[in-house]
Order: sequence, then structure tokens, then C-alpha cells
Amino acid sequence: MEDIQDTNSVQIQWEQICSKLKTEVGDTAFNSWLRPLEPASIEEGKVNLKVPTRFMRNWVVTHYSDRIRALWNKYNPDVEDINFIVQPIQKEVGSLRGIIRSFEKVPTPKPDTESFAVRDASVNGASALDWASDSLGKDSISAPLDPRYTFENFVVGKPNEFAYAAAKRVAESKKVSFNPLFLYSGVGLGKTHLMHAIAWEIRRKDPSRTVVYLSAEKFMYKFVRAIRYKDTMAFKEQFRSVDVLMVDDVQFICGKDQTQEEFFHTFNSLIEDGRQIIISADKSPADLDGIESRLKSRLSCGLVADIHPTNFELRLGILEAKAEQLEVKVPEKVLEFLAHKIATNVRELEGALKRVVAHSQLLGGREINLEMTQDVLRDMLRSYDKRITIDDIQKKVSEHFNISPKEMHSDRRARSVARPRQIAMYLAKQLTNRSLPEIGRKFERDHTTVMHAVRKIEELLVQDSSMAEDVELLRRMLEN
Ligand code: ADP
Ligand code: MG
Repeated sequence: MEDIQDTNSVQIQWEQICSKLKTEVGDTAFNSWLRPLEPASIEEGKVNLKVPTRFMRNWVVTHYSDRIRALWNKYNPDVEDINFIVQPIQKEVGSLRGIIRSFEKVPTPKPDTESFAVRDASVNGASALDWASDSLGKDSISAPLDPRYTFENFVVGKPNEFAYAAAKRVAESKKVSFNPLFLYSGVGLGKTHLMHAIAWEIRRKDPSRTVVYLSAEKFMYKFVRAIRYKDTMAFKEQFRSVDVLMVDDVQFICGKDQTQEEFFHTFNSLIEDGRQIIISADKSPADLDGIESRLKSRLSCGLVADIHPTNFELRLGILEAKAEQLEVKVPEKVLEFLAHKIATNVRELEGALKRVVAHSQLLGGREINLEMTQDVLRDMLRSYDKRITIDDIQKKVSEHFNISPKEMHSDRRARSVARPRQIAMYLAKQLTNRSLPEIGRKFERDHTTVMHAVRKIEELLVQDSSMAEDVELLRRMLEN
């Protein structure tokens, strides 16, 4: 009898507290996190609340336990503590992991196969499963992988060898090695390529491991949708079951506080469970603006590897490899020309080569030579020239290094002016269509000095990452 009364009163108290909580946290959070809780008993000033999963328990403890305790204590001063007990509900989502795996094994999932796998597994009729599979079925959490983005197809050179080695290590080791692996670079330099390569390699080695790759944008979209459809639980459970999580272009969640919060918790619980995380961004963790500092420090606590801007040698290597893949003969002179002219990023470089090849094929296999290449890419090359003049470069570089623009032409050889001058020459070669003698004249030097400067800076870009950052920054300022 006493028992029943006790259960009744704890139930009534909980209902009172719930109505308060609901107004405080809002319907969405309430429905996701607090509604599933069930009061069990009160013993010696301690309330026992049942929670369906361990994951949910962690979440509720970090986010709501203090508030629940305070409210309860106000309502019933005998209550001093809240105890959360994990007690699985019947409609467990235990087989979710199996579901994810079942379509993770399909190399490039197509929408049909995905929903098939999910439908198969949800035959059990469990509603929790339906609700979980719902968000999986409509669009899988992992984006498809590009079959061309493999380690074999990745050309390694000085600017990317470190990132490549780190990616290889993560893909090959059975144990979690660096966690997280954080890759960063400017656009089009191979971050996505390396992430897909890791995913392919892990799947090849052990198809039973669940690898999820998605963009931060997609992560956010899914999270916002989960909130809208009130199934944040299912959202979380999906991520909890992965062995390797890759989130691409994480700068996208800068300033998006709620998504960041969610990301932070997903991130922490996976790391605590010993799962591998791989992140990419366009900046180092420290330089990501609009990201909370605790997340920044979490992001940098594994291995941070950057991909430097390409150098001539790497660009040439990539062009050679791509020409071979396209099974076309492209004269070395043309490849060299492209490698010199298109220094922005690999994506544009590839685009230029493809344009030249397509052009020749459309014209019934017209021979590829320097003249036709210049012809085909005239617009592209002109837009480089139009945008940037040597005067602009000299001005920006001298501003950046705080020297007088006159120093660009002066005879002074002190390192503090000679280095910026060399950088300006290098950028003039990279970003304009001017020949070496033309560039030389603008600096009142001859062409061999310019050539020497270009080589010197190319060398330094690889050895000195702060110099590489300066140059990259200047390049971006000039291009925008
Ligand atoms: P990011 O994600 O850094 O913006 P991507 O990985 O999308 O860059 O790379 C852009 C394009 O350049 C892709 O087609 C990719 O295959 C190619 N690419 C980049 N780096 C290399 C490389 N080292 N070897 C071969 N291809 C590369
Ligand atoms: Mg990318």
C-alpha cells in the first residue's frame, strides 16, 4: 500500500516538475530529452528516474540534472539528489548499428538500396526503430564516397606529404591513433580527397567497421531537421553507433551555436568511446572564428595536419597523373605551362586540363599543343591577369610587411625587405601572365633575379609554414 502511494506521489511530483521544465526548455528539447524519463521511486531524499539509454542519461545528466534537482527540491525539500538509472525501453534501437552497417557495406549507396536495408530491418515493427530508421531511410547519414578519391590517385609532394602520411596512418592502424585527425588547407587542395581515401581504405581492410563521412553542412541540416521532427534522440543514436566519423568543412558550423553544441557532444561521446574522428576545415583550429574555445581545444588535441599550397613540382605531378588517367597524350610543355599558370588550387588545375582535353576530343582528336591550350584557356588566363596587376601585388605585399612601396625597387638587400620583395616577385609570377623579364622590369631587376626569387619562395613555402600562411593570405587578398 505504502509502495503504491509512494509511486503515485513521485509520479505526481514529476508531473508538476515536468510542466515547469517544459516552459523552461521548450517543447522540442522537452520531448526529446525529458518526456522519455520515468520516475521510479523516492528513497532517502533521492529520486530515481529511469532513462532509456546510456547515451541519453549522459546528455540529461550534463544538461538538465541540476535544474531537475533544484525544481524538485523546491517542490519537496526532502529531495536532495536525483539518480538516473538506465533502463532500456522494450522498443530498443539496438539493431540500429546493424542497419547502418548493412548499407555502409554497399560501396556507393544508392537511395533505393538504403531504404531497402532499412525497411528490411524494421519488419520487427518496433516503433522506436521506425522512428530511428525514418531519418536514416530518407537519406543515409553517410554521404556517398567518390570512387576516384583513393590513396592511389593522390599525388604526394612536399606540400601535402605530412597530411598524406597522417591520413595513411589513421586508415591503416587498427587502434585509434590520433584523435581527432584534423586536416586543414585552402580550397581545392585535397582535404576531401584524403578523407574519402581514408574511408575507402578502412572499408577495404575491415568491412564490418562503420565509417560515416559527411559535410558539416549536412550534419547541421540533419540536426535542424531532427529538431523540427522531434527526433533528436534518433539523430544522436545514429552517430553513437559509428566507428569512424568524418566531418568535412567544419568551418561551416562557425557561429551556429546550437549545431556547435550538438557537434561538441557527439564529438566528446565518440572520443570517450574510443571511436576515430577525422575533421577538415579551411583553417587551423585556433584560427577558426566563431567556434567556442572549448571546441577549438578539443579539435586540436589530436593531430593537426595542414596541406600547403601546391608548388610547381606537385602541380606538374598531378597533371601528369591526371593526363594518364584520362588516357590522353599531353605534351610535357603544355603540362608545364598549365602548372606555371594555374597555381591557385588543384581543382582549377584539373578543370583546365579537362577543358583542353575535351576540346581536342570534340574536334576529332585535334593535337594538343601549347598554342591551342592558350587559345582554349584564354578567358581563364585572362581573368587571372585582369584581376591582378604587379602594382597591386607590390602594394599589398609592402603593406602586409609594413615596408615602404619604394623598397620594392630599392637596392637594399636586408632580409626584412629582400624577402617581401621576393614574395612579391613570386606572386607576380603566379598570379599574372607576365614574363620573367617583364616582372623584372617592374622591380628594376633582371629576369634571373626573378627566377631565383620564385625558386627561393617555392622552397621556403615547404619549409616554413608561417611563410606559407603569409603567402596564402596575400594570394587570397589579391584574388578577392
Ligand atoms: P578540398 O576538399 O581541399 O577543397 P578536394 O579534395 O575536393 O579539395 O580536391 C579538389 C580536386 O583536386 C579533387 O578532384 C581532387 O581529386 C584533386 N586533388 C587535390 N589534391 C590532389 C593530389 N595531391 N593528387 C591528386 N588529386 C588531387
Ligand atoms: Mg572539400
